[in-house]
Amino acid sequence: MAEKNNVKVKFLGGTRRIGCSAILLQANGKNILLDYGATPGAHLDFPLPVPSKEIDAIILTHAHIDHSGAIPLLYTVANPPLITTPATLDLAELLIYDMMNVARDPLPFGRREVKRMKKNSILLNYKEEYKLGKNIKITLFNAGHIPGSSSVLLEINGVKIWYSGDINTISTRLLEPANMDLEDVDIVFIESTYALKDHPPREEQEKAFIKALKETIEDQGVALVPAFSVGRSQEVLCILEHYDFKGRIFLDGMARWASKILLEYPTFIKDYDLFVRALKRARWIEDNHDRFKAVSEPGVIVTPAGMLVGGSATWYLKYIYKDENCGLFYVSYQVPGTPGRRILETGKVRIGRKEKKMRARVGYFELSSHSGRTQLFELIEKFDSDTVFFTVHGEEESTIKFAEEIRDRYGYTAFSPSVGETFFQFPF
Ligand SMILES: [Zn+2]
Repeated sequence: MAEKNNVKVKFLGGTRRIGCSAILLQANGKNILLDYGATPGAHLDFPLPVPSKEIDAIILTHAHIDHSGAIPLLYTVANPPLITTPATLDLAELLIYDMMNVARDPLPFGRREVKRMKKNSILLNYKEEYKLGKNIKITLFNAGHIPGSSSVLLEINGVKIWYSGDINTISTRLLEPANMDLEDVDIVFIESTYALKDHPPREEQEKAFIKALKETIEDQGVALVPAFSVGRSQEVLCILEHYDFKGRIFLDGMARWASKILLEYPTFIKDYDLFVRALKRARWIEDNHDRFKAVSEPGVIVTPAGMLVGGSATWYLKYIYKDENCGLFYVSYQVPGTPGRRILETGKVRIGRKEKKMRARVGYFELSSHSGRTQLFELIEKFDSDTVFFTVHGEEESTIKFAEEIRDRYGYTAFSPSVGETFFQFPF
């Protein structure tokens, strides 16, 4: 058992909530940040500030804005190295620029900082070891969440620290499941998104999804699939290709640019041939003329935003909501308060300033990119009784109950930290 006493952990964000993921590690005289995220949407929120000149490295687990969105803040007066995978760097750049475009509030950084972030990146492939100074070893492992996503193993003077990032331990059509070396880990930061909930069997969901799309098209309708640009859109296209879906398929919005980036990273895709075929099968929407064409005949339209918060999905919704032969098919969890969730709860849709009845059929399929409850507990069981756990990235109830269950079921030490909380002198 290695000495944990030299490690200090401060939670800067992303605890008891989803958004603003950020953990500061202080050890061996170095300050290392694990993610530095924002909240997506029009009104941005950032983690607790850090003196960026004192940061020795930032490790970015994946491109999603709730993990990457605040990183440019660190480059206003400093140039700390950013350690991540090449696919994550390119996707993060795309999503950060998009975040800057849609933000209503003035941002504390601009394109100059994003460029500096890129310039100071250190790109690692999975399982490639990187040494920061003499005694700190950093390794990234495939996290199976979105292309390029990683979990992080740090070895600091023999103390092993593992951060799950967002993780999926089951195989999807797009990605290999997470795989990592979890031997003798002393400190664990683990996501809690689905700590209280299991997913229905994946293949069942895929088949039900395909069936709903087929029925819509047979009824001469248009099937709208709102999906996140990075990961979920490509996953949907791969599912369609895997089941040899016949019929017109369209891809719109930023999902197109994300797909283009991913074409350059075959090693981050499970079945690159399937992926290429899936992308070729889809017609890329260029402008409103194409959009009108897409809604004029039966077909499937895959487009952001995944929860109908803006994006071209809202453009299509205007054309399909009143037609009962058309369908709106969700492929991800809809956060309370979002337009996507409102349709599910009330059967009503806001068009312009008016509330209208949703006449199109509505379906919900769980094609999650996060581990469900069973998989999270399977992960916990891989550790030793003297591992210290911190549950992060989940709604308040999830993170608190997850830590409680880790303590009660196994007798392990587990905390659900709050923002700003600092831990040192392990075990406490
Ligand atoms: Zn994520």
